Amino acid sequence: MKTAVFPGSFDPLTYGHVDIIQRSLKLFDRVTVAILGNLAKSTLFTIEERAALIRREFKREGKRVVVTSFEGLLVDFLKAEKASIIVRGLRAISDYDYEAQMALMNKNLWREVETVFLVAREENSYISSSIVKQVAFLGGDVTRFVPKAVAKALKAKING
Ligand code: ADP
Repeated sequence: MKTAVFPGSFDPLTYGHVDIIQRSLKLFDRVTVAILGNLAKSTLFTIEERAALIRREFKREGKRVVVTSFEGLLVDFLKAEKASIIVRGLRAISDYDYEAQMALMNKNLWREVETVFLVAREENSYISSSIVKQVAFLGGDVTRFVPKAVAKALKAKING
């Protein structure tokens, strides 16, 4: 049983994340989406809200997609989950520096860990949670970038 852990902020889930999860399901038996709890940056959605939106999107996958959160070192979380594979998405070359640094540091902390990179689909390569939030705050239509429930949740946050 191969489990891949997909860590991130997911504030909120975008079609870019959805695509990486769907493609990971073709490579691995199970994907654990791990929401970072110890972020210095403030988030628009709470961990529970982010988790609920991801669970809703992947309900049909049943136990193949598990959504949880973690604090502390990612490698410690992996060990606790008995998983050794990290999945990350790569959009532009600008993602590479940071991602390679993280992958090398994680490897240094635990040599059993492997980071697998999936290149973003061309049509998703410019989508990020932060730009989606900006567009939503400025009144733009984000339905092309995020699942329906996420677009609705964004609207509710902004209006509320
Ligand atoms: P983090 O703060 O850890 O980067 P994000 O939620 O922004 O958290 O991203 C989580 C993961 O999803 C990262 O590996 C990121 O590269 C990937 N990702 C984000 N947006 C996209 C996208 N549009 N296409 C493919 N992968 C993406």
